[in-house]
This record gives sequence, structure tokens and C-alpha cells, in this order.
Amino acid sequence: MAKYVYTFGDGKAEGKADMKNLIGGKGANLAEMNLIGVPVPPGFSITTEVCTIYTQQGHDAAVSAIKEEVEAAVALIEELTNTTFGDKDNPCLVSVRSGARVSMPGMMDTVLNLGLNDLAVQGIAKKSGNERFAWDSYRRFVQMYGDVVLGMKPESKEDIDPFEAIMENLKEEKGIELDTQFTTEDLKLLVIRFKEAVLKVTGKSFPDDPWEQLWGAVSAVFDSWMNERAIYYRKLNNIPAEWGTAVNVQAMVYGNMGDTSATGVAFTRDAATGEDIFNGEYLINAQGEDVVAGTRTPQQITLEGSKRWAELAEVTEEVRKAEYPSLEETMPEIFKELMAIQEKLENHYKDMQDLEFTIQDGKLWLLQTRNGKRTGAAMVKIAVDMLEQDMIDEKTALSRIEPAKLDELLHPVFDTAALQDAKVLAKGLPASPGAATGQVVFFADEASKYENSILVRIETSPEDLEGMNLARGILTARGGMTSHAAVVARGMGKCCVSGAGAVKIDYKARVMNVDGQQFKEGDWISLNGTTGQVYEGKVQTMNPDLGGDFGKVMDLSDKFARMTVRTNADTPHDAKVARDFGAQGIGLCRTEHMFFEGNRIKAMREMILSSTLEGREKALAKLLPYQREDFEGIFEAMAGYGVTVRLLDPPLHEFVPHQQATQKELAKEMGISIDAVKSKIADLEEFNPMLGHRGCRLGITYPEITAMQARAIIEAALNLKAKGVDARPEIMVPLVGTVAELRNQAKIIRSTAEKVFEEKGDRIDYLVGTMIEIPRAALTADHVAAEADFFSFGTNDLTQMTLGYSRDDAGKFLLVYLENGILKQDPFQVLDRNGVGQLVKIGVEKGRSAKPNLKVGICGEHGGEPSSVEFCDSVDLDYVSCSPYRVPIARVAAALANIKHRN
Ligand code: ADP
Ligand code: MG
Ligand code: MG
Repeated sequence: MAKYVYTFGDGKAEGKADMKNLIGGKGANLAEMNLIGVPVPPGFSITTEVCTIYTQQGHDAAVSAIKEEVEAAVALIEELTNTTFGDKDNPCLVSVRSGARVSMPGMMDTVLNLGLNDLAVQGIAKKSGNERFAWDSYRRFVQMYGDVVLGMKPESKEDIDPFEAIMENLKEEKGIELDTQFTTEDLKLLVIRFKEAVLKVTGKSFPDDPWEQLWGAVSAVFDSWMNERAIYYRKLNNIPAEWGTAVNVQAMVYGNMGDTSATGVAFTRDAATGEDIFNGEYLINAQGEDVVAGTRTPQQITLEGSKRWAELAEVTEEVRKAEYPSLEETMPEIFKELMAIQEKLENHYKDMQDLEFTIQDGKLWLLQTRNGKRTGAAMVKIAVDMLEQDMIDEKTALSRIEPAKLDELLHPVFDTAALQDAKVLAKGLPASPGAATGQVVFFADEASKYENSILVRIETSPEDLEGMNLARGILTARGGMTSHAAVVARGMGKCCVSGAGAVKIDYKARVMNVDGQQFKEGDWISLNGTTGQVYEGKVQTMNPDLGGDFGKVMDLSDKFARMTVRTNADTPHDAKVARDFGAQGIGLCRTEHMFFEGNRIKAMREMILSSTLEGREKALAKLLPYQREDFEGIFEAMAGYGVTVRLLDPPLHEFVPHQQATQKELAKEMGISIDAVKSKIADLEEFNPMLGHRGCRLGITYPEITAMQARAIIEAALNLKAKGVDARPEIMVPLVGTVAELRNQAKIIRSTAEKVFEEKGDRIDYLVGTMIEIPRAALTADHVAAEADFFSFGTNDLTQMTLGYSRDDAGKFLLVYLENGILKQDPFQVLDRNGVGQLVKIGVEKGRSAKPNLKVGICGEHGGEPSSVEFCDSVDLDYVSCSPYRVPIARVAAALANIKHRN
């Protein structure tokens, strides 16, 4: 019989850390912590396989599959805690927690204190000698269960939670302001009113039977796997729906039993900067998510952290000590124990940990540990620090780098000079670093209203996920460093300032007030997530520093990568940027733009409109010096590395004027009639230019274009050679489908080169190759290779032609395809391994079968996308080429791929 339930408790566990796929990340680590002697309340995990049974075969099938195992596991909790589930004198209370393989916002919120009813609450009161605590737990339970299991949490964020409304009413009746001011009698009244609300809204009375409560909560976790938020998050992060979630059921421990109890969260290193310093927040006499909910100001765990916090929050040392003391000060013994545990956990997992703990009446319990989410900067620093601290080896350090996340480090920060002049509006916590400038919006679903928006909220919740992703930055008025906004923003690498108390938000009026100054929706503000400062208006940004730890990661990548990384660059400036990012050569230099600027377009139009060879050659002769100069600039910027120049590719009609006035001017200049101009333009018109007269088809019908370009390239290289610059041109013929096309063009290129060599009395090495972007070229690559020194897979066109999706028109249906799961990913972003990838593989194998030393690379957009880079490595490409800003990402991806494939 299959095993669906794994228990843990009292230093034993049936699961362990590497069983995340089966029992979820939370469950696996709860088990592991038991095994290494960390105090964890006992419990059990229901496997992800049960989630699949639940979604495929329904509720009853899932329950009957696990009923016996769950009953036995509950019995184990009862035994270890010396309590009884459903007992009126000594009841066993549990939490029900969701837990997928990777932590996932959007999943069902945890239900605490499950097992309580009108009888059990009296048992808890008697046993704890604290009636208020018992009723506080009960009212929280009814509220959480009502919200998350019975679905009473309002859909719209403008509506208020029915339970919150009841509490507000009672506060008004009593003339009190805080939850903590409720008396035991108030709490009893709240439970009654909550239950009435449940009956009214759901039509059923609140379940009193603990077993019914438990099964309800377990089912709700499985249901939440398919809710909208979870689906959205999975899409954003490429998590397959088949994974399912596990459910964890765990004995309660109470942080709300009075002043010797507390709850908190902590990180073994700084998740924003990566600094090796233990840090976190806690609240005395609180339960569960109170710390991250932003309703009370959390206190810092360490004394040092507390002092740093006070400085940022502009709180004096006296006030800090009196009102916000650190755990190190309030509970020194527990602090010491927590310190030892955090060290133990980090050494055990060998990665930065994100912990949850609860102190129940002077005893410390750990409730969760996981590898902490971090910013790109922290990711780099922690990996390099742990390597240098001998905790991990070089390959492990590299494996800690998520290539795509490096992006955060490559983009601008605020210009320091501009910052000096900027007016600081308010100060909050530096929750997630970076710089953001944008227009204020107050609702997550309006983040897309402006191209650059800043989401401003009192606090954020999981419903805001999508809008947070769309916004440039996030500002909250409430909440600490571990608030929802802060944690999610760091995970997204999004700039965030949290807890800026001076910001007063009025959602209804859509305005925020800061110190008497009013800002409407659409007004510009700027955020510095590194310092917590909020500025008025737009603030200039500048480029980041790429040395230090970032440089070390890049060096490591080069050590372990097999493929080299080139860049796609058409100008000396782009070539230089890419070289600074570590590009070794240019994989694609497009020449189109060289025909557009200034006087060039005139010569180009003359060439196109001329009906004689002589006329065309005359016009091309005017273009030659411009092209040569452009090539000299690019070759020089990439001296010592190969530069692949693609010959003219786009259809000619793109170069002719379509406006009457310009046509007239051109006619006059060329001394021909406007009708002649018009008829030539009409001639060039095509039904489907993408599949029309472009690429090598141009060079074949107008060989003089190819000859001119070849001459410009070779002359440029020879001129540089004379100056002592090592230029390495590689001439690439586009859009080849049959070998004869390439043969035709290669002949023109080679004979032109020989002519130039003779004229100049000097030679250089150069290559002639082709872009493989038509399926037929891939399928006949053995023939094509006979004429080519190199192949470069142009996977943009190859994807377009293999799938038959026009790149320009696919937008209309791709989104629908992605939403319906017809496609898992956009094939123009992530290389379609099964289709396009097969053609690449065939192309490489056939090409090398004819020419074993054939150099092969990729120059489509995919060359900078980590999973596509991994694929390129697996089919033995020599290099990938991508836009300058993706070069560092590709370098790390290439190293990770090589480690994966050849180790
Ligand atoms: P999430 O995945 O959203 O972090 P958790 O399951 O970790 O949800 O739980 C939410 C909160 O409830 C956390 O603060 C956690 O520490 C607390 N919690 C969960 N189970 C228990 C328990 N058995 N006793 C006390 N607190 C608990
Ligand atoms: Mg939660
Ligand atoms: Mg948690």
C-alpha cells in the first residue's frame, strides 16, 4: 500500500530534507530539523500525491486514501503532547499548513488553533490558567477558519473582512482602540458573533467537531492549489500544476500566552544586502503572522539590529529601549539558544536560512526553516562569502546564482549627484534595494495604467502579487522588513520601501498625504530601496558597479563554462558595453541600420530605384566608405575577437519613401518622374515580406550589394591591420535554404576578398558562414556545411518558420495559447526544445558530420535566456550570442549548463 502520510516529532521523522517533492518544502524541513535535534512541535505531512488524487478523483477518493494514516498520525501527536484531539479537558490543538515543493504565495493561509470548540476552549482555559488566552485563540481560530476554509474572506480588497468589521463594531461599542484591550467577555462575545456571521453567510453552522474541522482544512489546502493566485504565481515562475501541494498538520505552540511568550521570523544573513549578520523581528504575546501582518510594529531580534532599526526609524535610544527592545535584551537566554540554532541550521543546509519561531512560556520552538529568498545583490554576496568562508565549493557557489536574477545588478541606480538635489518626502525601511521612479497608483490592478508606476499601499497582501510584479517599485505605509511587501519584493528583485509611516493614504480619494503635501494618482515619486528614502518627482539614474563580488562570480563562470558568450551588437558603443560585461566577440552584427542614417539612405534609394547595373554600382560606391568606417569602429571595439557580420537582410521596400513629399524630392534629385518612383515602389511591394525578397535572395538578385559589403568588411579589417589592430571578420550570409544559395554568395565574397588583397598587397584571415534560420537549411546542413566555415542558428526566424507563427502577429494568439496551456512558454523567449531544438540538433550533427571542426553558435534572442543556453550547451554549440545586458546572465548560465552536462 502506498504511504501518504509522514510523521515527525520528538527527534524522529519519517521524512527528510531531500523529500521536498513528496512532502513539500515545509514538511521536508520540519522533518529534517527533528532529525538534527532542533526543537519542533510534532506533526505530520500529507504527500503531494494526495493533492493529485484530490484534483483528479475528488474529495472522497483522497480522504479514503489517507483516513487511516491520518488517524494514526494524529494519535502520535496526541501521545507526544499528552493531549487528546477533541477532548474537552485536555484538547489537542493543531495548525494546518500548506506546503508545496517551493514556497508559494497564493496557497491557502495557515489555520491555527484547530480543534477548538465551546467545550475545548474551557479545557484550554483551565489547563493554561489563562482564560483570556483561551478565548483569544478561539476567536482567532473561528476567524481564520471562516476566512480561509469557509471562503468568507472578501474577494475585493475594498470590502472589509466580515470578522474585522465585527471586531471594529465591538471596539466602537466599548470605546476601545486595540485588540489587546478586549476583555475575556468581549472575546466570548466575538466568538458568538463570528459564528452567527458564518451561519448567515454560508448557511451552515460553524463545525464544532474537530475531525470535521480537520478534513475541511485539509481539503481547503488542496483546493487552494487550483485558485487564481496560485495559478498566476505558477505561471510567473514556470511551476507545473502537476506538482501539487503537501499539507502539514502540526501541534500548536502558543506565542500569545503572555509576556514570556513571543513569535518571530529571522534570517541567518541579510536578505537584502547579503551581509553575514543574523537578523529578524519578533513580537511579544503574539501568534502566527502577527509579525508580518503589520498591525503592530515588530521589534528586532539582535541588539545591533535594533540599534540600526532605531536609527532608520528615527527612534531615540530611550524610546527604543523602553518600547522596542531587542530579544537579546528581553529574553537573553532564549536569544542565545536561537543564535546557536540559526548557526546550526545554516551550517547544516549550507545556505542562508529564513526561520520562523515561537516562544511559548519561556520555551523556544522552531516552526519553519527554508533557504531564504534574497535580492540579486544578496545572492551574489552570500555565494561568494560562503565560498570564502569554506562552507561551499566553487561549483556550489555558482549553483547559488540564478542567472536571470543578475539582471537586477546590471541596471541603473540613482545618480548620486541627482540624489543630492532631490527632495526627501519620507523615510521608510530599505525593504528591497534598487532605484525606482514612477507614477503613483493605489491599487494593484491599476499598476499597468502607467508605463512606470509605483504601487503605494497601506500594506500589501497576496492578492496584490500581479500588480506588484507590474509596478517599478512598491511603497507601503505599514509593515516591517519581513512584511508581505518586503518579502515578495525581494523575491521579485523589485525596489521596495516599507513602513513609511509619514505616508497617509486615502484609497477612496486616491491621494496620499505626506507632511501636509498631497499627491494624487499619476504624480511622480521615486524610491530608494537601498536606503528607504522616498523622493518627490523623478530622479536621474546611473549605471551600477560591476566589480567586487559580481566580478568574482563572473570569473568563476568563465572557469567552468565550455561555451563562450558573444554579443549581438550593431554599433561600437554596444560592442564596448558588451565587452565590459565580458562578451568574447560579436555573434550578430546587423548591417541594416548602416543604410539608414543621413546621406546613406539617399544613396541606398538611388541604388534601389536605378534600373541599370551601372547605376546601382555608382550608388553603392557612395555607400562603401560609410560601411567601411562603421566596420572599422566595430572591429576595433572587439579587437582580438571574432565579429560576425550579417549581410543585408530586410526586404528593399523598407528603404523606399512612402510619403508623397519625399517621393517628389527623390524624383527631383534623381532626375526621373515621380511616376517612375511610384511604379518602382509599387513593384517592390510584397504580400508577405517576411517570406519575400530578403536575405541572400537580395544578394543573389543584386550581387553588387554583396560585393560592396564584402569589400567594406575586408578593407576595414586591412586598414585596422595596418594600424596594428587585430580584426577578425566573419561574414555571414542570411536566410540560406539550399547550399546553392550559399555557394553563390560565398563565391562573390571570396573573389571580392581576393581582389582587395591584391589591391592592398596584404591579406587577413576571414571566415564565410551562414545563418541557419530556414528549416531546410538545418535538414540539409551536411550539404550546407561544405560551403561554410561556421553556422549561426538564427532562432528567431527558425522559430517563426518551424511553428509557422509570424513574429509580428503572434501577439494576438500567443497569450491565449499560454493561458490555455496550449503552449507552456513563449517559444520566441524560451527555445522550443522539442521542435526547433530538434532542428538545431540535426543541424549541428549533420553540419559536423561533413565538417568536424565547424564552428557553431546561436544568435537569436534565446542566446541570453538561461534554459535555452542550457539547451545550447547540451547540443555542443561553441558559443551563444545575446544582447549586451544579457551577457553576464549567459555567462553564468553557460557555466551552470556545463557543470550539469559534463560532471
Ligand atoms: P506561510 O507558508 O504563509 O509562512 P505557515 O504555515 O508557515 O504559513 O504559518 C503561518 C504562521 O503560523 C507562521 O508564523 C507560523 O510560524 C505559524 N504557525 C504555523 N503552525 C504553527 C503551530 N503549530 N504553532 C504555532 N504557530 C504556528
Ligand atoms: Mg501565509
Ligand atoms: Mg511560514
